[in-house]
Amino acid sequence: MNLTEIEEEVNKRFHAGVRKWMEEENAKRDTSYFHVTSLVYKCKRKVWYESQYYDLVNKVDDASLSRMWIGTKLHETPISEMHEFPVWFQFEGASVGGRIDEIMEIDGKKFIIDKKFVSYIPKEANEHYMEQVTFYAALYYLQKGVFVDGIGIHYYKPTASYDDEGGKERTFIKLLTQEEILKFTDYIKDMVGDISNHIKNHTLPDPYQSWYCKYCPYRLSCAVDSKEFIEPKGA
Ligand code: SF4
Repeated sequence: MNLTEIEEEVNKRFHAGVRKWMEEENAKRDTSYFHVTSLVYKCKRKVWYESQYYDLVNKVDDASLSRMWIGTKLHETPISEMHEFPVWFQFEGASVGGRIDEIMEIDGKKFIIDKKFVSYIPKEANEHYMEQVTFYAALYYLQKGVFVDGIGIHYYKPTASYDDEGGKERTFIKLLTQEEILKFTDYIKDMVGDISNHIKNHTLPDPYQSWYCKYCPYRLSCAVDSKEFIEPKGA
């Protein structure tokens, strides 16, 4: 092997290592409940596919896998007493659950904080991410009967250089009213009840087309205008 071939071999082994990590994550994945991280895309069809055919390792390219791997490593580091807090709720025979990155008290107020690994620090918090954390606030209320005071996103850019004027991290906080949290609890119940009925009847939920479709691991199986059951490719 020449030096170039050896360098390529190292790259290959890195990607093989990340793919092996994903295989292990897949094997651990509990598909007996709907995951908040899936529900937040608002597409019942995606949640349906995921609950029936969870196997991301064969559907995701190397670059996406590496991003997922780095994101997982970032989440391993606790920054509060309630790190990776499990939330869980059962409704009409179906369950929905997830893990809250961090729950922390600051100045007498309780906040749910989600950590995001990014390639650039945004000027405003991404609306979709804020919605995701509001989901967690609603689920936390359904499980514990406790309203949090607010939510936040902590963005972290691991590859920032020393002369990067934008800085390498930024946190956005939003206060939430109890009404806003309750609105999301209704939304969660509607979604869970509907997907659950589709699973029982072996029918496909309607698609919800959004910016996310081009990243959706099920996009090759999903005929967005179809209500026919379609076996996911590679299932
Ligand atoms: S491709 Fe879009 S519409 Fe189809 S399952 Fe995925 S998110 Fe839903």
